[in-house]
Order: sequence, then C-alpha cells, then structure tokens
Amino acid sequence: MAVLPIVKWPDPRLSRKCAPVTSVASVATLIGDMFDTMYAAPGRGLAAPQVGQMLRLFVMDCTWKEGAKSPVVMINPVFMAADSATAPGEEGCLSIPGILVPVTRPVAVTVQWTSETGEIHMNDFDGFEARCIQHEFDHLNGVVTLDHLPPE
Ligand code: ZN
Repeated sequence: MAVLPIVKWPDPRLSRKCAPVTSVASVATLIGDMFDTMYAAPGRGLAAPQVGQMLRLFVMDCTWKEGAKSPVVMINPVFMAADSATAPGEEGCLSIPGILVPVTRPVAVTVQWTSETGEIHMNDFDGFEARCIQHEFDHLNGVVTLDHLPPE
C-alpha cells in the first residue's frame, strides 16, 4: 500500500480516454494504493488516470469525512440510465486543487460495474453519490470539471 503522486491539471494524461481493465487481479495493488492516496489527499473520489494509470477504474467513499467509511471500487463502469432531471453543483477535484467549478448533471444514474472481486453489479445512485460517480466517470473519458465550463 502506498500513497501515489496525484496528476495535476493540465497534465495531458487527464485529457485522454482510458482503456478497459482486462484483469481484475492485475489492478488489486493499484486499488489499495488509490484508496490510500484518496484518503490521504483527502478526497472522496479518485480515478486511475489521476495517478497516471490509463485504466477505466475509480474508487470513491462519499461518507468517510462525516464518519463511517463506505469504500466503493468501480471497474469498467457503464451508465445504463440517467435521470432527465438535472441539478447544478460545485465540484472540486484532487487534480485541480483549490478550484470549485459549477457543473450541471443528472440527479440520478443507473450504473453497471465490475467490483474488485470480479462480480458484476448494477445499482441506482442519487444525490452526492450520483454526482461523484459522474465526476469520476468523466475522468475515464479524459474530461475534467473545467471542460464543463462554457467556452468563454
Ligand atoms: Zn476529479
């Protein structure tokens, strides 16, 4: 387990699309290191490209700052559905320290993903979790919060 250096914007790795994870076993160490890095930062979500690994994988824990830990690993996540209702929200990013960006996103999403044990899961998320998942998912496609700002 290790705390890894976090890639900071405008590093070009944050603008690239990531490749699917082909072997869950091959990312076991990376997942542990990503949780160490996220909790040390401290943050609530971290995507693999933020530690320089161009793979479709992120970790998150939306509750630990308020008390109990609820670690989640999403490998090769896919959005199955998104609510037509959207809401604005201010988002920070460990790769863009100190800058909050307003981003409008669907308020609820249905996601299918592979867990760290190789099981396929599908679940509905809303509130902060839905926002966090969409933020981390963006990273897997080379999108950061600043890309959501209007061109000017
Ligand atoms: Zn981010």
